Amino acid sequence: MPASTSTPDATGHFGPFGGRYVPETLIHALDQLEAEYRRAREDRGFAAELESALRDFAGRPTPLLRASRFSEAAGCEVFLKREDLLHTGAHKINNTIGQCLLARRMGKPRVIAETGAGQHGVATAAAAARFGLECVVYMGTEDARRQHLNVERMKLLGAEVREVDSGSRTLKDAINEALRDWVTRVEDTHYVLGSVLGPHPFPMLVRDFHRVIGIETRAQFAAAAGGLPDLLVACVGGGSNAIGLFHEFLDDRAVHKVGVEAGGHGIASGLHAARMVEKSVGVLHGTRTLLLQDERGMIRETHSVSAGLDYPAIGPEHAWLAQQGLVEYAHATDEEALAAFETLSRLEGILPALETAHALAWVLREGRGLGATTRAVVNLSGRGDKDVSEVLRVLAARDPAAPGGSPPAGRP
Ligand SMILES: *Cc1c(COP(=O)(O)O)cnc(C)c1O
Repeated sequence: MPASTSTPDATGHFGPFGGRYVPETLIHALDQLEAEYRRAREDRGFAAELESALRDFAGRPTPLLRASRFSEAAGCEVFLKREDLLHTGAHKINNTIGQCLLARRMGKPRVIAETGAGQHGVATAAAAARFGLECVVYMGTEDARRQHLNVERMKLLGAEVREVDSGSRTLKDAINEALRDWVTRVEDTHYVLGSVLGPHPFPMLVRDFHRVIGIETRAQFAAAAGGLPDLLVACVGGGSNAIGLFHEFLDDRAVHKVGVEAGGHGIASGLHAARMVEKSVGVLHGTRTLLLQDERGMIRETHSVSAGLDYPAIGPEHAWLAQQGLVEYAHATDEEALAAFETLSRLEGILPALETAHALAWVLREGRGLGATTRAVVNLSGRGDKDVSEVLRVLAARDPAAPGGSPPAGRP
């Protein structure tokens, strides 16, 4: 069990960010969670249980793949950390296994979760089933409509899916509802939060459950290529897969780190989820961080072709890393992400998640400038099977002759 003691401080702050902005009723549950987590971190039994679940249930360690053909297209040397090979298709299971084990330690028989695209919901439902916990997942009705297959997967895994029909009927509203549920049932319920967001200790413990990504990468890279990579690249929604990769390398200043946000239709359009552009400080869902808001402090609508990056706030530790200049934040548009999706699929035989495609797009854009001797690791946070219909829809709208578009006359 990695014991990271550097940040946050005792009050859960990463510099001026983070903290706990929650109703009084949740303070006790958060204290209890933090105390249990700190005990678990020192407990060899817990470490062994976590390690065996990550290995035999989730499929760790994930490989580090040298992507030769993609490297040629990008103009620098690219390695892919294969989180897409994990059970349920993305890095998210690292965190849901850890939190479900904590719930069991605390004697809580019920877990709840929020989900946007459904990926965190499915990963929570799977871990809950494995560890014998009752599971309720909150999901906006709009998201449930768009991600019908994931709703059915959660139900087959034994979870109850509660659709939320308020606000924009998406992730932000699902989190509100999950927090409301938790307030009323803290005694028997643990809230499995899905990214490095929310009140302390969530940003710390979600990060720690994903640190295994960077720890494995460090050893695998040294064995495969020698030394340290020059560059780490990951997409950033809340920021859990990115911090999971970066954290082990934060003291290595020579290793450049880049987090790629959703540029949507372009920054000028206003339709994006790039919180690092304006760096506006506010409070959302229990944490003080950078978010997209208007002059009156109202949360703005965000847009991304990938549901997993489509959230108005970024994790507080990322806000702090940006302020110190320890990580560079950039963005890639929907269009660039789709092109990167096609490039990786055709050159390496891997369909990446649309979220991940943003990180790949940044490498395709910047790789030549970095040069052929630059060695980059891209976190392949998830697989693209969930995105096939969305990709086909967008490609067909752009070009009717593309795969998924209407076939030209005379073709079956
Ligand atoms: C959920 C998700 C993301 C975004 O979440 P982070 O917390 O920023 O990692 C990225 N990639 C995939 C495949 C996801 O499922």
